[in-house]
Amino acid sequence: MLESVLHFDKIITQSIYTESIEKQHLSLDVLRTDLIHEVISGNKWFKLSKYLVDAEQKGFHKIGTFGGAYSNHLAATAFAAKQAGFESIGIVRGERPAKLSHTLEAAAANGMELNFVSRSEYRQRSQTQQTSGGVYWIAEGGCGILGAEGAADILSFIKNPDQYNYLIAAVGTGTMLAGIINTAGSHQSIVGISAMKGNTDLKNRIEDLLPSEKKSQYLCLFHDYHFGGYAKHPQKLIDFMNRIYYEHNLPTDIVYTSKAMYATFDLIEKNYFIPGSKILLVHSGGLQGNFSLDPQTLRF
Ligand SMILES: *Cc1c(COP(=O)(O)O)cnc(C)c1O
Repeated sequence: MLESVLHFDKIITQSIYTESIEKQHLSLDVLRTDLIHEVISGNKWFKLSKYLVDAEQKGFHKIGTFGGAYSNHLAATAFAAKQAGFESIGIVRGERPAKLSHTLEAAAANGMELNFVSRSEYRQRSQTQQTSGGVYWIAEGGCGILGAEGAADILSFIKNPDQYNYLIAAVGTGTMLAGIINTAGSHQSIVGISAMKGNTDLKNRIEDLLPSEKKSQYLCLFHDYHFGGYAKHPQKLIDFMNRIYYEHNLPTDIVYTSKAMYATFDLIEKNYFIPGSKILLVHSGGLQGNFSLDPQTLRF
């Protein structure tokens, strides 16, 4: 089964030290879920796990899902489906490009059938979890109650999770953050860094995934750390990624974790956190997305 190729024992919490962190008597730990596996790294396995069990229990042999050309979710689903003995189909937004992105190549190499559809068709189909035509369809990004339930397991890999005052994570669909909120204690503040520009409906969509008693959890979403938009990676971001790799031995991806890390440092500089607080940043993986860059770009 899939679990046997994943290295849960490699997950660590890495402490980060900077002058500002020390000056404000903060502590910053990074939960390295990226270390689980190079393809299905970070949150993607957690979000998929409950769907795969559900699909198997319901007797499906084929998993379908949705994504764009740089979707970690598509690559992870292809890999997970193959390992778990399912066929898979990926519905990709937009026309088939002359050259597939590294992410789509990886998905296809794991046996995923790729179907390219128009943006309007994509929009109509990608947001619902359903079964049809013998296919168990998972919504874009694994978004849904089962996705959030699976993501809730992420915090079980930290020793003494209650010690943290703030839990920070990058946000796409918000499924992982909903899972984190579900396991968080009421004394913990949740901070989400949106990787998209102007995804203003995000808070409502996250709340839709929460049971009613969790809707009052302190949640703050930041929408201004997207660096120009989803998957945009100006030189300033690349320089930051190289710097934190050099200074803290911390690799990040261009779409999510670099922006969450940047935001965390920036919020520390702006005195956002109450002095003396303990902060946990979830490194949600996604490093395979960096392969779409020119190989000289990153120093890791
Ligand atoms: C997919 C992904 C996210 C976003 O997860 P959501 O549950 O969609 O919010 C965050 N970080 C990484 C590395 C991802 O691949």
